[in-house]
Amino acid sequence: MDKHLKAVMMKRTERTMENLRKNRMQAWYVESREEVVPLLETLIKEGDTVACGGSVTLFETGVIDHLRSGRYIFYDRYEKGLTPDQITEVFRKSFSVDAYLTSTNAVTENGELFNVDGRGNRVAAMIYGPDNVIVITGWNKIVTDLEEAINRLERIAAPANAVRLSRKTPCAETGFCQDCRSPDRICSSYVISRQQLVPDRIKVIIVGEELGY
Ligand code: SF4
Repeated sequence: MDKHLKAVMMKRTERTMENLRKNRMQAWYVESREEVVPLLETLIKEGDTVACGGSVTLFETGVIDHLRSGRYIFYDRYEKGLTPDQITEVFRKSFSVDAYLTSTNAVTENGELFNVDGRGNRVAAMIYGPDNVIVITGWNKIVTDLEEAINRLERIAAPANAVRLSRKTPCAETGFCQDCRSPDRICSSYVISRQQLVPDRIKVIIVGEELGY
């Protein structure tokens, strides 16, 4: 990346981290995806129970492979051959794990996390249950405010996820949200996480790379 652009992105990241901390979340910056797993090893104890939300970022950063390494007890929603009932069981167990890992749809410079789910299992676990919630995000998901977060959801995150999940939604065809009535709609629960009642429960790792969508 051009060094001047990087300098601007760093300022934006620092501003975001400062406001996340004001909102009683912990925040870290790492320059590359390779630094994510070593940091996780300091945040999750060996033998802890862990689970994750659906996320391309977790695959891109090697986190899913790390969770599968045997170091933890991993309730793996992606395990091959799981029936729908077994996946539902994994989602339920996720509410009581020691550490829940996920990405976010957007993080605002005001220190807010913005997430939208269809089923709601990911946002539910982010809100309540696990004592540790670790959010890993590329700095491409930093936005100025909630208006931009919604725009990002409707123009990037949701359409790309609808394509990834082979959903029959208008956004999968056109690339933008049409507030659909499709039975395949993936946008049901809209959650903004601001100042936290439990300090430091949510930990945000911002990576200086483009990750996920
Ligand atoms: S509401 Fe429907 S059209 Fe809009 S982003 Fe969600 S799934 Fe796509």
